[in-house]
Amino acid sequence: MKTDQITIRRLFLGNANAYVVISGNEAAIIDGGLGSRPQRFVDALSAGEGEIRVRYIAVTHAHYDHVGSIRALKQKFPDAAIVAHQIEADNLREGASPVPRGTMWFSRPVSWLGCWLFHNCIRFAGIAVDLEIGDRLECRLGGSELEFFHTPGHTSGSLCVRVGREAVFVGDSVFHVLPGCFFPPFADQPDLIVASWQRIAATGVRMLYPGHGRPVLLKKFVAGNGRFNQPTW
Ligand SMILES: [Zn+2]
Repeated sequence: MKTDQITIRRLFLGNANAYVVISGNEAAIIDGGLGSRPQRFVDALSAGEGEIRVRYIAVTHAHYDHVGSIRALKQKFPDAAIVAHQIEADNLREGASPVPRGTMWFSRPVSWLGCWLFHNCIRFAGIAVDLEIGDRLECRLGGSELEFFHTPGHTSGSLCVRVGREAVFVGDSVFHVLPGCFFPPFADQPDLIVASWQRIAATGVRMLYPGHGRPVLLKKFVAGNGRFNQPTW
């Protein structure tokens, strides 16, 4: 996807999406997918014109299927800042991915099984966070505005990344595996999801890029959630 200023590349890694965003000669990486596949990111970056500098490697939340390539990417791009919400920093450093609660009939047993198999926590190689976010932080990426903002619910330290008026990278705050079904099947604080959705909707961007499933137009997401309620099934 390419607009006047921003190029967005979606990488499907294991079961999750990761993204490369390029603006001018600067880039941000959002999430690291499942498994360590740094070359996929290098290929996505090299498809740009000229030398691209990676400034940020953002982690939307400390779940194992979103951090797979992060350590290797930091080694490849040591000047890039690893960005995460301050609440997730300890889990990232310790390589701890707590099994989240299931919010639906099919995900509750999966969560229960995960807790039992992994003793409540799935382990990955730890990563030090360079830039810890509180409520929000605005900065620049090339010629574009970049904003990190807190959207608790899926995890207490879930983070979204907005790029200009074009995109919000929503991690697992919005799922889009099934059409029209956006509520995350796993969430530690399901009661906070709707307020975080309202924050995402208030950005007024064109498109949302989820951690699982296909990108969705913001207006479709809002229209599909007129109730903005948790589904009851
Ligand atoms: Zn997750």
